[in-house]
Amino acid sequence: MTIRDRLRRQEPTLSFELFPPRSPAAEEMLGRTMRAIVDTRPDFISITYGASGSTQGASRSVVQRVAQEHGVPPLAHLTCVEQSRDDLRAVIEGYLEDGVTDFLALRGDPPQGQAGWRPHPDGLMYASDLVVFLRETAAAHGVHDLSIGVAAFPAQHAVERFRQPAIDVLRAKQAAGADYAITQVFYDVAHYTGLVEEGRAQGVTLPIIPEVMPLVSAQRARRASQITDVRTPDALVAALDAAATDDEARATGVEHATRLARDLLDAGAPGIHVITFNRHDAAVELVERLPLRGGVARRDAL
Ligand code: FAD
Repeated sequence: MTIRDRLRRQEPTLSFELFPPRSPAAEEMLGRTMRAIVDTRPDFISITYGASGSTQGASRSVVQRVAQEHGVPPLAHLTCVEQSRDDLRAVIEGYLEDGVTDFLALRGDPPQGQAGWRPHPDGLMYASDLVVFLRETAAAHGVHDLSIGVAAFPAQHAVERFRQPAIDVLRAKQAAGADYAITQVFYDVAHYTGLVEEGRAQGVTLPIIPEVMPLVSAQRARRASQITDVRTPDALVAALDAAATDDEARATGVEHATRLARDLLDAGAPGIHVITFNRHDAAVELVERLPLRGGVARRDAL
């Protein structure tokens, strides 16, 4: 069953994000993390893809492990940055050979130091172009039932001057053939409901799955802010800073993420996508506090 089909059921989905490991030690940690998160019976696991195709082989190998070793549907991220149409076609064909039918179509961030965004001369400009390209490439191989997700940006939408562009771009992704969206990280439920409500009023019908990131240290919170350009709430950073031990800091981060995830489910979110940083402890502790295990709502957890 594709993610598109899972989202048509009434129960909210549970999913996680992993990234490809960069060393043997990281590979081992990823193995432990996969086993622990698979025990929570997620609906799918997404695997990031380095912009510029830098993690191409490593991403594909994690996607294969998720599907073949663990029997969980993988969601393969794919980006356009610094790749020609031929490069992208070859990557997509590899995934199709592996039986992958779920993709997250992204543009990717421009390489560090590059001023502004320039597509590859024979590449794609926007994520919406990648949605179309994925469907065309799959159709040429007789695959017609791809399920394609795209990115959405609630914190960006909360900023006045990005408000309308955030909706316009999401609508363009939907018009290109996207089936659902997964959000960038954010910390205020009103940012999510604002994007969803305004989007619905303007014809965005895509299910929008919120991403939740349990932050286990002040250092990680600062790093997350840098990478995403979304400010971590000062009160959360202060509480993480004040924690006397790693366990206390983790409990603080999990508590914050739990409150947000519960508020999101109460607001009607169609699922929760958990960022793991390839560590299972905080991710699993969060999920154990939510009515989501097994992809079937566990109301007794409330
Ligand atoms: P686009 O939709 O192409 O948007 C890029 C820019 O172009 C935006 O400023 C947008 O406003 C503008 N734009 C889009 N369409 C139009 C249009 N028709 N006309 C004018 N302007 C337009 N990055 C990675 O490198 N690897 C990953 O695995 C990865 N996973 C991610 C997962 C999630 C859930 C999210 C939210 C982000 C992820 N990213 C990843 C980061 C993402 O690639 C960046 O945020 C990137 O800068 C934007 O990607 P996009 O897919 O939204 O691009």
